[in-house]
Amino acid sequence: MSGSLGASMINHAQSGSCSQDAASRWRQLADRVLGGHSLTEAEALEILASPDDELLDLMSAAYVLRRRAFGNTVQLYFLMNAKSGLCPEDCGYCSQSKVSDAEIPKYNLLNAQKLLDGARVAAERNAGTYCIVISARGPSEREMNAITTIVPQIKAKYDLNICACLGLLTPEQADRLKACGVDKVNHNLNTSDNFYSEICSTHTFQDRLDTLKAVRSAGMELCSGGIVGMGETQTDVVQMAFALRDLGVESIPVNFLNPIQGTPLSGEGKLNPRYCLKVLAMFRFANPNSEIRIAGGREIHLRSLQPLGLYAANSVFVGDYLTTRGQAPEADYRMIEDLGFIVTQHEEPAGQLRTAEPHAAVSET
Ligand code: SF4
Repeated sequence: MSGSLGASMINHAQSGSCSQDAASRWRQLADRVLGGHSLTEAEALEILASPDDELLDLMSAAYVLRRRAFGNTVQLYFLMNAKSGLCPEDCGYCSQSKVSDAEIPKYNLLNAQKLLDGARVAAERNAGTYCIVISARGPSEREMNAITTIVPQIKAKYDLNICACLGLLTPEQADRLKACGVDKVNHNLNTSDNFYSEICSTHTFQDRLDTLKAVRSAGMELCSGGIVGMGETQTDVVQMAFALRDLGVESIPVNFLNPIQGTPLSGEGKLNPRYCLKVLAMFRFANPNSEIRIAGGREIHLRSLQPLGLYAANSVFVGDYLTTRGQAPEADYRMIEDLGFIVTQHEEPAGQLRTAEPHAAVSET
């Protein structure tokens, strides 16, 4: 298949587009992935480099995969920036790093009431997952104690999954998070192993892999994704998607760099919405059964094409991001409803998903 895809790209360049051929080629690739084929690097690169006039054919094929795994459902996540702007690391894309001059709120770990209040908002917004995020290299003992105390209280009160994003974790810390009821841990790979040193010097790609392995060993699900638009090559994007596949990551947030003023990467983030859609499609082809979330940068990079993204992805954040604004929740609910998709708080078995009724109303808060 990779050979025929490669040949098709050359033919396309020589003789112009043929939507019929494009539709069947992308559909054939989707069928092969449905049958167990692992996307190759050549195929992934062809997706990213595919002509714009094949975009709907590509998204249609990605939707075949998304539909099998998740039906017409959308999972919502709600972010709580539980400790803002105080990180000693130097990630170039991050407004909360020690090398960022971005004007953002700076505060230590929120108290228990504020974390509970965040959980209430998450539940009111129909989010299935409440993400507690701190800016840190890793959690201090005091922060570990606070998180492991509040998580059982949140879970007793609300029907929410908890995702903790606390930086680098030791195996012992991962075990403690599992024991208190944390369902999954977010720790993004962010980019490829090759490109990692271009975006951060205070920790390595391997450090991040080690944390993900500790989380897996502790028995929690992995939430890990990346950021596109930091100056990386398309090969870097593919290698990141494949590294996530190798780890069997259950939940993949795909961010598109929001070049925040005051961060070292404020001059990057030059993306167009069609490329962003191709990235989402490539992640779906590479990780057909993983939850794929359109994460930060959704509004500014996909713009009017946001709805198309949900034909490949099956999840979004509802509300604001860590230090930047998201669109109003009502706009997200309306977009999901207009697509004929439904919000589900928790994933159901795939067999049930396939029978989910289209055009069911999205309940609004
Ligand atoms: S470790 Fe996390 S919070 Fe700290 S600078 Fe990097 S991305 Fe930002």
